[in-house]
Amino acid sequence: MKIRLLGTGTSQGVPVMGCDCAVCLSMNPKDKRLRTAALISQNNTNICIDTGPDFRQQLLAAQTKNLEAILLTHEHNDHIIGIDDIRPFVFRQNIDMPVFGLKRVLDDLKHRFAYTFANSPYAGVPRILVHEITPFQEFTIANIPIKSIDVTHGKLKILGYLFENLCYITDASYLSDETIKLIKGVKYLVLNALHHEPHQTHFNLSEALEMIKIIEPKQAILTHISHHMGLHEAVSKTLPSNVILGYDGLEIEI
Ligand SMILES: [Zn+2]
Ligand SMILES: [Zn+2]
Ligand SMILES: [Zn+2]
Repeated sequence: MKIRLLGTGTSQGVPVMGCDCAVCLSMNPKDKRLRTAALISQNNTNICIDTGPDFRQQLLAAQTKNLEAILLTHEHNDHIIGIDDIRPFVFRQNIDMPVFGLKRVLDDLKHRFAYTFANSPYAGVPRILVHEITPFQEFTIANIPIKSIDVTHGKLKILGYLFENLCYITDASYLSDETIKLIKGVKYLVLNALHHEPHQTHFNLSEALEMIKIIEPKQAILTHISHHMGLHEAVSKTLPSNVILGYDGLEIEI
């Protein structure tokens, strides 16, 4: 299995429009962060986690030829608004794209993309087949076992996803004991870390590092990063040996 971080930025992306801080002006490609999403690949099966506003350019960069399913973490714009761009895959593969998520998230999707769920939609819509899942539900996509996990994002209940040796969590501000128990000792953990200051709906860096200490993965990769985090190179030097700051295009063999 391979994971590619398609995007590692918070909702506004980095650089932030009009900002002239050192991070936004940095020439280091690792300081350019599209909105957070990831691609999981195994045996020519590709699964996208979230479809934010940068979906099209992210899958072009990944040279993705086929897409088998989408896992949604939650309904915030930076995680779903690019879903119309699944059309090339839907047309070429002649499928209704399976999209997994909580009922609330899928209801929101149906509301915001009503044209694709209409009774007799026009021919060019991104055809979607929704699959409702609940926290701690096991399911498979092309024989790949997956378990949804309960994640708290401010006041919102959202999902993370656990594969055999990989756990993917974004937009968390709290993890329940049940979730921690389930993922403790996982080999690879992707976890969000916004910046240094405390934030109501996202772990900041020290909270994320604290969580990583408890979960004890072999390797943790930070994502959903804001320009306030600092320069990639400088921040990377401050992290524990089993933690790296994610960057767009990072691929890890699991
Ligand atoms: Zn987000
Ligand atoms: Zn900036
Ligand atoms: Zn969010």
